[in-house]
Amino acid sequence: MAHSSEASPPALTYTTKKAQPGPTFTCSRCKRVYKYPVTGDPPIRCECGWWYTVRDGWIVEEFRHRLGA
Ligand SMILES: [Zn+2]
Repeated sequence: MAHSSEASPPALTYTTKKAQPGPTFTCSRCKRVYKYPVTGDPPIRCECGWWYTVRDGWIVEEFRHRLGA
């Protein structure tokens, strides 16, 4: 049977605004970059094991092992 090899275009998301790089937060251990957390955001759980939790406007860092909780 006829099989079209025409690939569908990839789904891309465009914004009409110019890119406004928001504040970013870089993990001091592994240099991964995240959106800068603000109060009320869930903690950043970096893949290297460090958590960054916003508390009273400050970022509190703590190391948590993955215990499968
Ligand atoms: Zn990290």
